Amino acid sequence: MLRLNKTLEGLEQRRLLRGLHTVDSEQASSIVLESKKVLLFSSNNYLGLANHPSLKKAATAAIQKWGVGAGASRLISGNTNLYHLLEEKLARLKSTPSSLIFSSGYTANVGTINALVQKNDLILADRLNHASLIDGCRLSDGTFRIYRHKDTKQLEKRLSARKPGQNAWIVTDGIFSMDGDIVPLSEILQLAEKYDATVYLDDAHATGVLGPHGGGTADHFHLSSSRLIQMGTFSKALGGLGGFIAGSKELTHFLINKARSFIYTTALPPSVLAGALAALDLIDREPHLRTQLWENRHYFHASVQALGFDTFTSETPIVPLRIGSNEKAIAFSEALLENHIYVPAIRSPTVPKGSERLRITLMATHTKEEIDRLLDQLEKHGKALRVL
Ligand SMILES: *Cc1c(COP(=O)(O)O)cnc(C)c1O
Repeated sequence: MLRLNKTLEGLEQRRLLRGLHTVDSEQASSIVLESKKVLLFSSNNYLGLANHPSLKKAATAAIQKWGVGAGASRLISGNTNLYHLLEEKLARLKSTPSSLIFSSGYTANVGTINALVQKNDLILADRLNHASLIDGCRLSDGTFRIYRHKDTKQLEKRLSARKPGQNAWIVTDGIFSMDGDIVPLSEILQLAEKYDATVYLDDAHATGVLGPHGGGTADHFHLSSSRLIQMGTFSKALGGLGGFIAGSKELTHFLINKARSFIYTTALPPSVLAGALAALDLIDREPHLRTQLWENRHYFHASVQALGFDTFTSETPIVPLRIGSNEKAIAFSEALLENHIYVPAIRSPTVPKGSERLRITLMATHTKEEIDRLLDQLEKHGKALRVL
């Protein structure tokens, strides 16, 4: 007998029950949510590419040429020429010899980590890593240990304590999705060098956002290393869907043969790949989109700090505001929604108790007026709820 209701009731009592909200518009800076027009401050569509005319045009043309579905996995007959073009461009963006596309960021992480990490290997993972990295680590045969968030001292301790001859992997986000801070990649690569380890970097939020070329965290710090495996997605700044791994030719060849989430799933629709190709063109040709995103981020961050909000350690377009309890965070988010602004509350246990927050993400397409509207409402309800 299934006892699903009991679990659901338990979640409801703790105010942790989740539900889906319906959107009835394209992903612009305002959307129609449950029939209500709201300003959107919770999307990963950082550069506004999800509804960009160039991507729409490229995807539509691809449907006319290729149809809507790929029909089979990449190893059978789904591997359209678009994959080849896109993987070449990705390798260039990431300054690696090769790249390999998966159906999503989630499947790229789970499949790659699971394929690479062997029995007896040691995985060292940042405490704040994304759920897909955690799932990949849990599914693998390695020994999985956490180190404190960005704590390179504790990481070094764990590396030096490993068993003789044991392979070590350091797994980390580039931009952390809840705190909006950036991994100290240079220090981590130095440790990898010193202790003969490999770094697996999840650049889902950083691709298209960080670095002079939008190449992500390694581009931002001007780093390259044969010890570095870079993962990225098309689902955030690139406005579409899909994940990828960038590294050596040997690595991608290995994954084609060993990553189960690559092998046993249908290839992406050609329109999705054509959209991603157009997105990479824009990243390259229109750096002003990235400049605008960062200008919006800096304006909002400085203004919200001036109001007296605690923004944790945010360094990126992800700006969390400390609220301090689930009840207040939910009340704050609901008050904003009543005023046509959509900012989700992030509750414990998703984040540690006491660090319950509103999680705001800026986009290049927000106008100054839209950001000012948000700031006004944050000030008003921040005072009413005694957060300020
Ligand atoms: C969103 C995200 C993923 C998953 O990517 P999808 O393409 O949405 O499956 C993986 N890692 C991080 C850090 C993410 O933020």
